[in-house]
Amino acid sequence: MAKLSRRAALSGAGALALLSACGSAIGDEPIRTRANEARYASDAFRRMTPAQWRERLSPAAFNVLRQEGTERAGTSPLEDEERRGTYVCAGCALPLFRSEWKYHSGSGWPSFFRVMTENVGTKADYVLLQPRTEYHCARCLGHQGHVFPDGPRPTGQRYCNNGVALRFAPA
Ligand SMILES: [Zn+2]
Repeated sequence: MAKLSRRAALSGAGALALLSACGSAIGDEPIRTRANEARYASDAFRRMTPAQWRERLSPAAFNVLRQEGTERAGTSPLEDEERRGTYVCAGCALPLFRSEWKYHSGSGWPSFFRVMTENVGTKADYVLLQPRTEYHCARCLGHQGHVFPDGPRPTGQRYCNNGVALRFAPA
């Protein structure tokens, strides 16, 4: 089915079918996450210019958070982080994940089966042929990663996160 869908995506109708398939998988999440983003509409982080972000972030973090870049797989020390604590946005420190939700996906990126849903926004991403669900910090809108429906129980979700977009705060 996945192979067939990828080929079907080459035609407009196929792309539309894929879109609706993706939409049904995440339910009403995009609508809910717009409300999450609206809560921070007047936050100081929203008024920061690209130059100010460059000053605040490392070049690697700027590339991921502000330009939706992807770090090279297997390069994040957070992938092997095992301590208890909280993973916060490297842009603005909004908490995004608890250590209990982290697992080893084997993907080469820190992975979680649950996110603090009230603190993220999502959008469809068409960078690759197959639409993916991008998620970002609800406060500074910094890009974090993509969520896929192939995670472990109990949620079945895999939040595939760029390590450089997170900071770990040990408990
Ligand atoms: Zn943030």
